[in-house]
Amino acid sequence: MSNLKLFSGENIPLEMHKVRMVQKINLLPVEKRSQCMSEAGFNTFLLKNLDIFLDMLTDSGVNAMSENQYAAMLQADDSYAGSETFYRLEKVLNDMFGMKHFLPAHQGRACEHIIAQTLVKPGSVALMNYHFTTTKAHICRMGGVIEELVIDEAFKIQSNEPFKGNMDINKLNEAIKRHGKEKIAFVRIEAGTNLIGGQPVSLRNMREVSNICRKEGIKLVFDASLLTDNLYFNKLREAEYKNVDLFEITREIGSLMDIVYFSARKLGAARGGGILTSDDKLFFFMRELVPLFEGFLTYGGMSVREMEAMAVGLQESLDMDVISQTPIFVEALCNELLAKGIPVVTPPGGLGCHIDAKQFCSHIPQSEYPAGALAAAVFIASGVRGMERGTISEQRLDDGSEHLADMELLRLAFPKRVFTLSQVKYIADRITWLFSNRSLIGGLEFAEEPKVLRFFFGRLKPKGDWPQQLVRQFRKDFGESL
Ligand SMILES: *Cc1c(COP(=O)(O)O)cnc(C)c1O
Repeated sequence: MSNLKLFSGENIPLEMHKVRMVQKINLLPVEKRSQCMSEAGFNTFLLKNLDIFLDMLTDSGVNAMSENQYAAMLQADDSYAGSETFYRLEKVLNDMFGMKHFLPAHQGRACEHIIAQTLVKPGSVALMNYHFTTTKAHICRMGGVIEELVIDEAFKIQSNEPFKGNMDINKLNEAIKRHGKEKIAFVRIEAGTNLIGGQPVSLRNMREVSNICRKEGIKLVFDASLLTDNLYFNKLREAEYKNVDLFEITREIGSLMDIVYFSARKLGAARGGGILTSDDKLFFFMRELVPLFEGFLTYGGMSVREMEAMAVGLQESLDMDVISQTPIFVEALCNELLAKGIPVVTPPGGLGCHIDAKQFCSHIPQSEYPAGALAAAVFIASGVRGMERGTISEQRLDDGSEHLADMELLRLAFPKRVFTLSQVKYIADRITWLFSNRSLIGGLEFAEEPKVLRFFFGRLKPKGDWPQQLVRQFRKDFGESL
């Protein structure tokens, strides 16, 4: 594993790979960055990649691919039906999770669409540790509602709980009793729980939830998009798995679930997705939807080249040297920021470093979107693009009022094996500067607000001229430098 300990006692987050293909990136001057942010409606989703220095928006579809993945892409078997590529991918997945059936889909939300169409009816409820944006949207679109049962500790920004993504078993039992099992569409566990800071779920918790679901006859669905970060923490933080192979752990997870689905934009470092199940009835039902919405059963909307890359990427994602780089870089950045008194989600999870905007911008009311404002300010200060994970990422309630998020987080995601340690240090340095000038950051308000998934393409504007003030302070402190 790559977290090298030196005699001085310092851990060096050492990269266990070398870079043999590179992409040049640009660092624009601060005035230009401010202008770009303004043109993007203060929504980091609307920035252009060319204007960004370090893109930490997401780990979706932007992970570094290995030489073996590229090599596999050259051998893809291009055919509409019955492609060899599909059978190779299917075999890898069936082995990995120990499940009988595999259905391809073009990305994670497409799987959610198919699962929601299959299991959600108007009035039904999906119980889950925590929602993901697209998951919730698909369930609600079918007339269902979601209920979140994650342990209370998940909402404490600073915590020592090693598995903040765990489902609260008492809450689960209570919810089943309250709703009655007929009303429950399914229970869902999300690995590496995205919106609470990439926080893992323990195997022990998965077993407990699975036992209850089996006893009650409720389907258990596992979102494996962020599986690799979760596996890393299962091995690191769960004593009984310390010496268990990642392949064995994944098989065990598969044995506990009725459905496993994933975004291969994350898991497998390619672009695509898929659903696994051993349940014949569920399989036959979902299978009818795949050609309708995705493509024929042996490609599901994916290119065969991506499927080949995915098959190799999935196998490589059961290697601790491969999957540990993201969590150890997350930890390195979190530790640098914590040392400066900057509030981040702890313990550090997978996926990215999550800054608590409620504390960072404690002077900005939640109705003025502190996490969105911080995302804009970080881009102006550094050229680093993060993602708002707070109230902007929520939907308004039916009566049009604002649904204030549980947490206001700025996520700085680490695409897998893309950045270097000096880039991590640059980020920490600029955020430290911003922290000492945080009183300059102001709130945001919507200028254009779409009804569904507004965070993707909504446009906002600053309250006052705080971006200009931030630029002036930057010039004062950094002189001529970018
Ligand atoms: C990204 C993600 C999804 C959706 O996957 P897409 O490929 O982006 O559609 C679902 N669940 C989780 C946990 C994710 O991180």
